[in-house]
Amino acid sequence: MTTTATQTSTQPSTRTASDPAPGAGSRTVLVINSGSSSIKYQLVDPEAGLALASGLVERIGEEEGAIIHRHGGQELRIQAPIADHGTGLAEVLRLFDEQGPDLSRANVVAVGHRVVQGGRFFSGPALIDDEVVDTITELVPLGPLHNPAHLKGIEVARELLASVPHVAVFDTAFFQDLPEAAARYALNREVADTYSIRRYGAHGTSHQYVSGEVSALLGRQDLKQVVLHLGNGASASAVVAGRAVDTSMGLTPLEGLVMGGRTGDIDPAAVFHLARVAGMGIDEIDHLFNRASGMKGLTGDNDMREVWRRIDAGQAQAREAMDIYVHRLVKYVGAYAAVMGGLDALTFTAGIGENDARLRAEVVERLGFLGARIDPGANTERSGRARVVSGSDSAVAVLVVPTNEELAIARQAVTLL
Ligand code: ADP
Repeated sequence: MTTTATQTSTQPSTRTASDPAPGAGSRTVLVINSGSSSIKYQLVDPEAGLALASGLVERIGEEEGAIIHRHGGQELRIQAPIADHGTGLAEVLRLFDEQGPDLSRANVVAVGHRVVQGGRFFSGPALIDDEVVDTITELVPLGPLHNPAHLKGIEVARELLASVPHVAVFDTAFFQDLPEAAARYALNREVADTYSIRRYGAHGTSHQYVSGEVSALLGRQDLKQVVLHLGNGASASAVVAGRAVDTSMGLTPLEGLVMGGRTGDIDPAAVFHLARVAGMGIDEIDHLFNRASGMKGLTGDNDMREVWRRIDAGQAQAREAMDIYVHRLVKYVGAYAAVMGGLDALTFTAGIGENDARLRAEVVERLGFLGARIDPGANTERSGRARVVSGSDSAVAVLVVPTNEELAIARQAVTLL
């Protein structure tokens, strides 16, 4: 086992408190995002909007695992095999004991679990009991990559942290009440209903949080908004007066925008074609569409910074890929403006949305017909704050709002207590 401690300047998405102790009397929530071979966690003070500690257990079940624990400007990295999720979480709790903050004194009032697929069952956070666990289990066929991993996280956390309530916060909840016209595919009704095929969306916690921040920042609750969550996964949502009316991800997170490794929208007949003509199997096509396409499949790299480097080096394919990416974004924003009958605010969030000023400028330039104008100075300013980046002459407010899913999960969790 190797252990290294370093001063860290890397900021998790939630602001890290320089004073790592929670304020006197303040409540905290331990937020857990359990993946198939990883556990991400954050100890959040939801009222103050602060992350008091954060970390990551990775490569669970592999030969060489790692745990990174950040607290009070320090980052501790441990390298050792981690047999399973239970061992990983027990190690994390040991690190809280050893390195702080001391959970027994942090007034942890809940554990908030991120759950990707809540199907038609959850339109908000749910206090986890055996019945909720059973429902998340029933939803595994709709979230085969995520829900089994969340269930593992929930199981071990309920064992190790038995004295506090556990709350599930669903990525799909914000889109549970989409109008039927947006949620239902024009697929044979009987088949669609028998197999629960409809648009569930994803990234809902982020879209809800970001659109709420926009309303607060602009001081208006009646806004017609488009939120572009552009990370490795990417999705757009249309939100009217705080309610989602459409979203780009569908039955699964494959639909919609061009992503790091996913195609986004593609004619489903491409599947028939690849099966018949190329002899590909379903799993092969699944991998092709979900992992080996998007920017990675178009340029060889899924990192936008690398795509821009290649564009600057004169690579025509990289420029073409960016054009495809921007085209899809512009198409969705235009479609959602039509769906909502107008557009008051357009917001960029997540890794690309928050950091890529050049992409924002290209998208907004193309939306000039809606009266959208970027302020080049505000757009290129480096800032971690939520801010308006449109010019004073813009008919559409354009914003950059850092997403903060952990804070949103923590805030939702405490609403149930
Ligand atoms: P995830 O979907 O994995 O949570 P993130 O929201 O963290 O993704 O976004 C990750 C992506 O953000 C990276 O793949 C990279 O393309 C992009 N990114 C990060 N920083 C920048 C930057 N300065 N400019 C352009 N893209 C960036």
